[in-house]
Amino acid sequence: MGEKLKIAVQKSGRLKEDSLKILKECGISIDNGKDQLKASAFNFPLEVLYLRNSDIPQYVEDGVADIAIVGENVVIEKQKELDVLQKLGFSKCRLAMAVPKDVDYNGLEYFNGKKLATSYPNSLRQFLDTNNLDCEIHEISGSVEIAPNIGLADGICDLVSSGSTLFKNGLTEVEEILVSEACLVANKNISNLKSAILDRLLFRMKSVLAAKNNKYILLNAPNDKIDDIIKVLPGMNSPTVMPLAKDGWSSLHSVITESDFWGVIDQLKLSGAEGILIIPIQKMVL
Ligand code: ATP
Ligand code: MG
Repeated sequence: MGEKLKIAVQKSGRLKEDSLKILKECGISIDNGKDQLKASAFNFPLEVLYLRNSDIPQYVEDGVADIAIVGENVVIEKQKELDVLQKLGFSKCRLAMAVPKDVDYNGLEYFNGKKLATSYPNSLRQFLDTNNLDCEIHEISGSVEIAPNIGLADGICDLVSSGSTLFKNGLTEVEEILVSEACLVANKNISNLKSAILDRLLFRMKSVLAAKNNKYILLNAPNDKIDDIIKVLPGMNSPTVMPLAKDGWSSLHSVITESDFWGVIDQLKLSGAEGILIIPIQKMVL
């Protein structure tokens, strides 16, 4: 049996499903028996370790796992020296400060001398130090958002995505400390053999992520509009132009970025494009 790359993913929780999904989209089939701590891929030299999110940075630093899918915020909080290889586009959130909504907040100075509750003491400490603020930090492991209501703290520092948890607890977000998303991280001293496996995995991940960010577009246009339309369509290269059976008309094919999408569609219609079709791309090999 040859060398295998060991990847840690969250055992249960917010990142688990999307972590396994991206491996699957990379064509990697894993034997996912219930309650397993370890599983091997059938068709790729990869072993999956299911671990607690908050333990993952330590395991990767120690080399128990070679790589992992973990929230960048956890890597920062745990202050581990890992290589962040690729952002993965899910589990997006921000670490933010919040105060009761009736507080007349007028800037960072408000926090001086206050009590703050958080599950992320290192990240908070660093933020406070950078801003020369002197606060008392209460570390609690969960339900941080109730701390002000029960008189435990004047404010909190917690992860926020939609903000609905803060809202429900009568809190207002006032400062952003950092932004985070799930990312692929690696131990800094991976063997050459494992590095080669990692390169293959990364290549697949980048193709999967690029495909998610792009759409295939087809449209029809009168031949005299083609030049105008090509100016609007950025594409990977230049668009494919093919004659239609209908005289004087062509079909154009190209790739557009998700973020440009609606702007491009509006311009295309103005330029005389008809029968516009947008198709998802499954993999995009870069
Ligand atoms: P463990 O797996 O060690 O029990 P946990 O209980 O903190 O850790 P989860 O709550 O499943 O794990 O996931 C927390 C992670 O999910 C965060 O570290 C962050 O990267 C990500 N995340 C995304 N949005 C949010 C959010 N709104 N609140 C909390 N975490 C979020
Ligand atoms: Mg948990």
